Amino acid sequence: MKHLLIFIVLFLSVYTPQAQEKEAASADIYRQAYPKTSELVHTKLQVKFDFSKAWMYGKAWLTLQPHFYATDTLTLDAKGMDIKEVAIAKGNVTTALKYSYDNAQLFVKLDKVYSAKEKYTIYVSYVSKPNDLKATGSAAITDAKGLYFINPTGADKDKPTQIWTQGETEANSVWMPTIDKPNQKSTEEIYMTVPAKYVTLSNGLLINQQKNADGTRTDYWKMDLPHAPYLFFMGVGDFAIVKDQYKKMEVNYYVEKKYEPVAKKIFGHTPDMIGFYEKILGVPYQWPKYSQIVGRDYVSGAMENTTATLHQESAYQNARQLTDGNAWEETIAHELFHHWFGDLVTAESWSNLTVNESFANYSEYLWTEHEYGKDFADAHNFEDMQGYLQSGSEQKQLVRFYYADKEDMFDAVSYNKGGRILHMLRNYVGDDAFFKSLNNYLTTNKFKTGEADQLRLAFEDVTGEDLNWFWNQWYYGSGHPKLKIDYVYDDAHGNLQVIILQTQADKIFRLPINIDIYNGSNKSKHTVWLQNSTDTFTFSYSQHPDLVNVDAAKATLCEKTDNKTTENFVYQFTHAPNYLDRKEALDYFAAKGLKELAIGLNDPFARLRKQTIESLMESKFATDESIIKRVEEIAASENDKKTKAAALTFLGATGYSKYQTLFLKNADDSSYSVAGAALSGLTVLDPANGYSLAKKYAADAKGALGEAVLSGLITQGNEADYDVISNLFNQTSFGQEKVGMAFGIVKYLARVTDISKIKKSIDAVMAVRKSIPAQYRNMSDPAFKQAFDALGKAKGKEIDTYIKESLSQ
Ligand SMILES: [Zn+2]
Repeated sequence: MKHLLIFIVLFLSVYTPQAQEKEAASADIYRQAYPKTSELVHTKLQVKFDFSKAWMYGKAWLTLQPHFYATDTLTLDAKGMDIKEVAIAKGNVTTALKYSYDNAQLFVKLDKVYSAKEKYTIYVSYVSKPNDLKATGSAAITDAKGLYFINPTGADKDKPTQIWTQGETEANSVWMPTIDKPNQKSTEEIYMTVPAKYVTLSNGLLINQQKNADGTRTDYWKMDLPHAPYLFFMGVGDFAIVKDQYKKMEVNYYVEKKYEPVAKKIFGHTPDMIGFYEKILGVPYQWPKYSQIVGRDYVSGAMENTTATLHQESAYQNARQLTDGNAWEETIAHELFHHWFGDLVTAESWSNLTVNESFANYSEYLWTEHEYGKDFADAHNFEDMQGYLQSGSEQKQLVRFYYADKEDMFDAVSYNKGGRILHMLRNYVGDDAFFKSLNNYLTTNKFKTGEADQLRLAFEDVTGEDLNWFWNQWYYGSGHPKLKIDYVYDDAHGNLQVIILQTQADKIFRLPINIDIYNGSNKSKHTVWLQNSTDTFTFSYSQHPDLVNVDAAKATLCEKTDNKTTENFVYQFTHAPNYLDRKEALDYFAAKGLKELAIGLNDPFARLRKQTIESLMESKFATDESIIKRVEEIAASENDKKTKAAALTFLGATGYSKYQTLFLKNADDSSYSVAGAALSGLTVLDPANGYSLAKKYAADAKGALGEAVLSGLITQGNEADYDVISNLFNQTSFGQEKVGMAFGIVKYLARVTDISKIKKSIDAVMAVRKSIPAQYRNMSDPAFKQAFDALGKAKGKEIDTYIKESLSQ
């Protein structure tokens, strides 16, 4: 799963861990793996939907067996259902069973004592009412409805009618009685009866479709391989099914018809990704098909339901957005990789979520490295590491047996930190051993569950090395090293000391560290072990080294202060091979205000050229003629659209009127980034023209162009622009961009006098505010309140009251 959190965090820039009081209440409970008394074997469902009530009528036949000890009872998870009948099914004969139900679990008395592995089939007839779940009183469950009806009555003309489900963590038991735990696995059949105008998607293969006399159709989906209940999925709606394939296997993309022409541009790398992951893992994709579907108003980022991945609307990108790069490609890779780590071998408990999510996170690195090169992947690695370092999670272990809520496991430790730990492990054992160990873990545990120790055993088996030290400090321990690195050269004796301090509190890490020593054209490579609060390593030299590069592979998860000289960093930029070698040098030049920073304008990697332009724009060299000249060249000839946009923004900041033609020429570029930067520059030089172009482009403006258009209209526009502005806002699908726009709208409303229009826009902004998932809303709400307070003060009592009432809802 990938959380919506990533977007909200980007927008708010600071992540404040939430719900501290909640943790105090229940974080002291030891979260054991769920005891396995009974085992699911097979799940057969017949379902049909009542769209007007948002109910689902279900019949379930569950085949189970006692795990080891004989038993005559069975407990099923079944949340908020109306239970009609519970029976034991033998052939076509059903016999009613005694049961009790507490609105969360169904306690069944079986017809006899069943011994270990003796199978029986339970029949349950029920009604699911996901929207009534609030009544059960659990706060967590309101965001875990399991089954979601989107615009079920069609009342909203701008939104299609859809049904989708979201199981993880334990919400599928809202729409099917099951043992809703990650350490259960079941094969599956679902008969879904839907209005004939809709298509359906579920796990496994579509075996047949039967038209019914009442205008409905029954689709029969079958999954012959066992998988965990949280991975069960149903999707219903008016989708185009864009067909692709990997070898002879079906690969499908379910998108709204508007996106049919670009579906392959968004998802088209999927077959290559399957092939790539098969190759590095040495384990074939095990499932019978792979489909991906985009759901409206999805409550998370994306979810790896087996063979039926669900994405949120941010996956939708038009051809112009895609010229800036596919913003969803890493998520596509992430969910696919779960089909090995998560779906094939499943975390035994939420405490061991790392064996799902750290791998899915690291798969983004693996795909990016393969497809776009090591610089791209290392940039991704660095950003993800920052995500962890800024998350305030130093106290949390990767494998955590104490947490307040299982949803809390889906955090920057399980994802970002876990992915970086795998990267370190790969760097330590080497590529061959790393991938052989993953193969070993997958083949040993496939169609079963895994925990972190099974991963350790798989690595120990392959490498022949005891790896408890690594697991104890990284999987079962918390925090990370904070290194201070100093160098003492003694040229008289040709003696170098590298002194490394571990400055973090309360523990010392055992760390293998690569040190490369550069001397002229020679480079000698060394590996040393840190294991004390201060470690000193001595090297001899005949000629003063040009550079001593500690952590040469740039793979260590740490914070560091590296006391190199400017000359060292210049040498490092030009000679050391990694993205981070160059980025560290550029960051140093920028922080010290050194003109050496300009060498980054010629970096082979576009993202570092872009970073350099942005740093220079903030520096005293922003008016330096030689630098401006080089940025002009980049603006004219750069292929990377975002870097070109950065160059245009840099030139715009000079305020030189000579760039007017350049901006005009680029304002209708196919890239929203380039067009947006050009329009912003033009608006400064020629406000009237900028304003009229903003109105012209408003019909098709996303990303940076959307921001430029909106800011042009909001700062210069008047009440007559209301429709253009609100259309632009309404057309933007929910996400970070829309949240940003919402604040612009609130500002603009101060200049609108029509009360009904103001109220309509307040409603639209409130809808965005409420779309932010409840668990993150305490981060965004203060900003909304502040913006609205200002508007209320400006517009007087009626609007102020309207705002206060809306905010309280
Ligand atoms: Zn995931």
